[in-house]
Formats: sequence, structure tokens, C-alpha cells
Amino acid sequence: MIRIISDIRSPRLDYVLDFVFNQVLNTGYKLTLENQEDAALPAIFYGKTTCLPLSFSVSQIVEEQGVLHQKSMDVLLNAYQEYRLGHRAWWQLDVFGMIFYCLSRYEEYLIKGNDHWGRFTARQSHLVQMAKNHPVVDELIFLMKEAIVKQYPSYKMPEQKNYTFQATMDIDQAWAYKYRGMRNILSVGKAILTLDFKRLHSMWKVLIDKQDDPFYTYEYIEHQCQMNGKNMKVFMLLSSKLTSIDRNHHPSTPEFRALVQELARFFELGIHPSFRSTQDICYLKEEISELEQLAGKSVHRSRQHFLLLRLPQTYRQLIQHGIDEDYTMGFADEIGYRAGTGHSFYWYDLEKEQVTPLKIFPFQIMDATLKNYMNLNSDEAIQLITAMKQQSELYHSPVTFIWHNSSLDESGEWKGWRQVFEYLMRS
Ligand SMILES: [Zn+2]
Repeated sequence: MIRIISDIRSPRLDYVLDFVFNQVLNTGYKLTLENQEDAALPAIFYGKTTCLPLSFSVSQIVEEQGVLHQKSMDVLLNAYQEYRLGHRAWWQLDVFGMIFYCLSRYEEYLIKGNDHWGRFTARQSHLVQMAKNHPVVDELIFLMKEAIVKQYPSYKMPEQKNYTFQATMDIDQAWAYKYRGMRNILSVGKAILTLDFKRLHSMWKVLIDKQDDPFYTYEYIEHQCQMNGKNMKVFMLLSSKLTSIDRNHHPSTPEFRALVQELARFFELGIHPSFRSTQDICYLKEEISELEQLAGKSVHRSRQHFLLLRLPQTYRQLIQHGIDEDYTMGFADEIGYRAGTGHSFYWYDLEKEQVTPLKIFPFQIMDATLKNYMNLNSDEAIQLITAMKQQSELYHSPVTFIWHNSSLDESGEWKGWRQVFEYLMRS
């Protein structure tokens, strides 16, 4: 157990201490005013003055309540900037305040998302711009652990797990051409107008059963999971109104229903709430019920389609609908650590000033980010992932990636990207 000696008492501090010492380091902790009690245990002093070998200074953020202050954010970020530039030691930061700032997504309440979909982007994030592709929270926890070990050599730190890469997948469109009914006529028209005869030819061959549907990659995915001993969490888009954004097969399509039932036997399924459900929340209930019926079990995990996440509304709505795991926390425009960590953590509702039962599983890498937003080729993507892997091993920080069944189609724009998927699966 680690003693935290401080006269600060706040729900924010409790939240951070629970995350760091109970969930990540697994040491447990005791928050106390006295330095005399259990004097043999490692101690960290957290206050305005420093008095122990291990002391962190405190800024406003952990003591504030309810209101968000630009100034509190600036103080933390300026200090962190100085640390990055080598002008300040890590322990001169408000370490617990910084971790709270990252996990609570404080900055996302002060900066409104501004991409085409109204999403908060990596480019807007002060944290990401300063830290680049760096897990700020995991690094601070690592430094803290090293300092405890150095200062208290006889204290036995619990072993931390060696994390592997976690595989997740979104299925927006189960087949490229099959079972799409009238929508294939529109696709034919579009292919003719754009003189895309290759697509027309491929579509024709699939529809007369001379060729497999290019998005039907499930056997390959299952094989990859089995070969690498990985479980995969798969998120299904199940909108009952089909548009160019919610482009799943209609949930009443018999072949689609059979596919979802089959996938439920092999994968851990979650809901992929449609764009429509973000416009009108009653559809979220409908989509979850549909998936529960098909999978034959209750659904409690979710990832937003198009990563459409608005704080605090989206998370409050998910909680109301019985979801207790969300996998949306990451960026579309860059790989990296939106909340500064690869670890899962409970969502803290800043406006209500309380910890919620919703656990956030952040992701760091997405197929479309690498290829479409960062314009990398598959070799460059593997290089980047390798660097991330080394960093994750150093900080014992888990990495989660998102792939799509459609980006395993080797016949089109994703040609050559299976090697990236396989590399991630082996990691
Ligand atoms: Zn999607």
C-alpha cells in the first residue's frame, strides 16, 4: 500500500488515486493527514509545500468543483510544456491534477469539436499537440513507480501485466454487394456515371456467385484471431433506416440476421450506434434491442459510428441505456492517446462532479486514420506501430486498435493493408 499524505479531500483526488493505485499499479493506497502512521510504507506528499523525498505540488484543479476554468487548464499545460522542454522536473508537476485533467477530458468541455462531424480532433487538443504521440498519464505513473522503487527499495511493487494489442472491429457494411436489394441499382448507376468498370465487373461476378463478396472477410478474421490467440470485440451497425452514412444492411434482411447470429458465437459483440441515433436518441434503444435479440444476450458495450462523441451527452445517454463499456475514446485524424492513457478508466462526469459506472476503453490506432487521414502507406504504418509498441512496453500501457471488415478487402483501395492488420494481430 502507498500512503498519500495530504490535507486535500475532493472527489477528483479520490478518483485519480483509485485509478493510479488501485487500477493501474495495483498497490492500493491510503489517504492520510499524518506522516507518522504506518511509517514503513512508501509515502507521497501532495500539498502546497514539499516535505518528503517524494512530493508533488498541487494546483487548483483537484480542489475545484463543478465549474471549469480556462486558467486551471493553462496552469497545468504551461507546467507540462516546461517539463517537455526540460525546464522542470516531472515531480514538480501537479501529477495528480494532470492525470485528472487528462482522464476527465477537461479540455473537451472548453473547446468545441470543429471537424466536419463536429468531432473534437487531435489538432484541437492542447494535450496531444504538446505531448505528440505520447501517453502522458501512463508516463507519469511509470515515473512515479520508478521513484517509489528507488526511494523505498525494500517495498515490493506488484508486477504489472505485460499488455498486448487489443483487437476491435466495426462492421458498418457486412457485404459490399450481396443482399443489398434496390441499393445495388444505385451502385450500378454510380459506377456507370464514374466509368468505374472494374467495380461493375466485380459487382457482377459477386452477384452471380462467381466471386466472394469483398467485404465478407469473417473467416479470415476468425482465423487470425485463432492463430494469434486473440479475442476480438466487434461492433455492429444496426440502423433501421438506411442512408449513405448508416449504410448497414437492413436488420430485417434474413442473411444479415443469420450473419449477426453467427458472429455472436465467435466474437464479443457490441452496438455501433448509428448516426441517426445521435440525432434522435430513441433509436439507440431500438438498435440495442435488435442486437440483443439477434445475439441472444444482453449488450453492454458500445462504440459510436464515425466516433461521434459529445461530452457529456453521449456518455450520459449510453449509461441511461445500460451500456457500461465504451470504446469510442480516440481520434479519427491522428493515432495516439486522446485521454493520455491506454488503460481503461471510469468516466468522471465533470458537470455532476461524480464517477460513473461507465468504463472507457480508449483506442490508439484506426485503419482509416493511418491510410486516409495520415496518408501513410502500409510500410510506413507498420513503422509507426512498431514505435508505439516499444513505448507501450516501456510504460506497460495497453494498445487498442480498430479495423473494419471492409478494409480487409484486398481488391480495392486497401490492397496491401492486410499485412498491417496481421502485424497488429501478432503484436
Ligand atoms: Zn462505423
